[in-house]
Amino acid sequence: MWIFNSPKVVFGDDALEHLENIQGHRAFIVTDSNMVQFGFVKQVQQRLAVAHIESAVFAEVEPNPSLQTVLRAAAQMVEYQPDWIIGLGGGSAMDAAKAAWLMYENPDADPAAINPMDVYTLREKARLIAIPTTSGTGSEATWVTVLTDTELGMKLGLGTPELLPDLAIVDSTLTMGLPPRITADTGMDVLTHAIEAYTCTLRNDFADGLALKATELVFKYLPTAYATGSDAEARLRMHSASTIAGLAFGNAMLGLSHAMGHSMGAVLHVPHGRSVGLFLPYVMEFTANGGGTRYGEIAHFVHLPADDEEVGAAALVQAIRDLSAQVNFATSIKALGIERAAFDQALPKLVANAEADNQLFFNQRYAAKNDLARLFEYAYEGRSIDF
Ligand code: NAD
Repeated sequence: MWIFNSPKVVFGDDALEHLENIQGHRAFIVTDSNMVQFGFVKQVQQRLAVAHIESAVFAEVEPNPSLQTVLRAAAQMVEYQPDWIIGLGGGSAMDAAKAAWLMYENPDADPAAINPMDVYTLREKARLIAIPTTSGTGSEATWVTVLTDTELGMKLGLGTPELLPDLAIVDSTLTMGLPPRITADTGMDVLTHAIEAYTCTLRNDFADGLALKATELVFKYLPTAYATGSDAEARLRMHSASTIAGLAFGNAMLGLSHAMGHSMGAVLHVPHGRSVGLFLPYVMEFTANGGGTRYGEIAHFVHLPADDEEVGAAALVQAIRDLSAQVNFATSIKALGIERAAFDQALPKLVANAEADNQLFFNQRYAAKNDLARLFEYAYEGRSIDF
């Protein structure tokens, strides 16, 4: 038995208006300082005021949010006693909102140990609205929260189905000002979600169509969103792609690009999308070398040569490298500006973190410790995977 999970999704370039229709008393907004500066927090508060909902703001979320940040936000929620929690921002703000909400309702829980087996009886105090402002993580449609243990230097992929937002408001106008660099990083995150959801060991018929559609949208609209950020259609379609890919992997799983990307993000402080997207073509080559993947089906769907699996996989890898070039996305660790000595020093930790990441187990071809070391090495130099 398997359950397909989805929040109620309100999407479009006027989706934020939906906030005027919700019922409640007090909302607690978890966000970052840029969202205040861009006026997004004010827009949300004004809409809530129309619905006679008062609100308080925690605007201290950092990229790759820490366990400590979550605890600080939760303590303020306890003071304020909201009946709505709103995560406003990129994946970092939405993930911090999820975990802080769980701590608000379960003050004795350990945020580093949030897991699907425990029962948290969420929604006794509040419900969750997620409002993404990047087109990337899909966190608004998943029950995952990714937190960083700053002491261990490690990202923790945590979650329970109870953390699935009640409402996702996917309003593309919030992404119109995304700088090209963040547009590219987060856009490659969407592509990685879609391709890994379609090919992981827990793939399923319900997630497949979503993964294919999101892949198609990224190939079609990311170059325009990157080059012409003011293109409203490209922004709208990329924002949809992000939530669709979130639904896909939230109802399947991911794979090795995420295990390696989480590791590099925490150890070498590389933004999430830049990290996972960089590894995608290497992981695809490694996985395809083991045989029996479904990259050919994806290639066929996006109209690439796909006479057989091998031809399709190679065409899809090449198309991803071409897309990366179009959006100036680094395709090797060296190209990120990381010196050889720093990489060599970090390698044991990079491998150990990736080995401990739960997404490793959902990749179609298992990567043992020595495979991981070689994958990182090849990705440093930008060499195609021949093993
Ligand atoms: P982010 O949330 O860390 O934001 C990156 C930067 O972009 C921040 O400085 C932010 O202020 C800025 N920003 C956000 N929206 C903007 C806008 N509209 N205009 C200008 N600047 C804007 O980045 P992200 O890639 O969205 O999220 C990454 C985090 O999400 C990581 O911690 C990652 O591990 C996590 N993640 C979670 C899931 C999930 O399902 N929960 C999935 C993938 C990734």
